[in-house]
Amino acid sequence: RLYNEVQDLKGNIRVYCRIRPFLPGQSKKRTTVEYIGENGELVISNPSKQGKDSHRLFKLNKVFGPAATQEEVFLDTQPLIRSVLDGYNVCIFAYGQTGSGKTYTMSGPTMTSQEDWGVNYRALHDLFQISQNRKSSISYEVGVQMVEIYNEQVRDLLSSDDVLELMRIGLMNRAVGATALNERSSRSHSVLTIHVYGMDLETGAVLRGNLHLVDLAGSERVDRSEATGERLREAQHINKSLSALGDVIFSLAQKSQHVPYRNSKLTQVLQSSLGGQAKTLMFVQLNPDVDSYSETISTLKFAERVS
Ligand code: ADP
Ligand code: MG
Repeated sequence: RLYNEVQDLKGNIRVYCRIRPFLPGQSKKRTTVEYIGENGELVISNPSKQGKDSHRLFKLNKVFGPAATQEEVFLDTQPLIRSVLDGYNVCIFAYGQTGSGKTYTMSGPTMTSQEDWGVNYRALHDLFQISQNRKSSISYEVGVQMVEIYNEQVRDLLSSDDVLELMRIGLMNRAVGATALNERSSRSHSVLTIHVYGMDLETGAVLRGNLHLVDLAGSERVDRSEATGERLREAQHINKSLSALGDVIFSLAQKSQHVPYRNSKLTQVLQSSLGGQAKTLMFVQLNPDVDSYSETISTLKFAERVS
């Protein structure tokens, strides 16, 4: 194993939390984040309650506070990402309500400089570089695919064998289409898959690994009394697929015999990188604003169930 530096992995599933900062220009409201501990403890306070009911403690594998940089977050995921070069399958996804920073973590902000790059561009860059200047007898090929899952339909966004070209197109698309896409992107899942194929030139042995990087649809509950027609349909599909994902990860965490992959397109697409030897990392994203309190709690409950 050349690149697998993951040593502290207890199971194959880890759950990280990332809390986004209050945004410039957003009036500084009270925060729900009471305390962030060293070892993944997080205390959330309910602004409308007093006494012991006003606090809830959650325990995750790690918590990144509002000051965490894109680089810090990436460095933590890098060993996991590089294990793809040893033939592991890896899935990293961001879960949370719309506006909580999923896209920021996975891709970065729009009009981005390299410093702001999110996990997906950094991962592509890193894997591509390593596969180019190889330090072993293994010759690598890296391929990329991107799909969107919307209303249980899978759509190919682009397929390209040229990683650098893909990055260029991706960055350009995001820069121009950001506002128009944002609305829709919160109601679809986007899955970037990096396939790695390696061959040992001395022995002829072959390895394959793939990395799925997933920006999930917003997890917020849509008010049933208000949503109708298309909106209601979308909301039902999102609900169904996010709970199917939760069920799959939960049954993996429980080491159950039966893992219900077939219940949604999302879990079908991700199947190869969920379970078995595959490694899974979930970022649960939080908006610290008090108005987000109930979504924050339900996001953390989702996380708690699988961690
Ligand atoms: P989501 O994809 O969950 O809907 P976004 O990633 O679009 O949320 O984030 C919402 C807003 O917050 C964006 O303007 C984004 O740039 C900003 N944001 C999110 N996370 C951070 C962060 N860690 N640091 C600075 N700004 C952030
Ligand atoms: Mg988004």
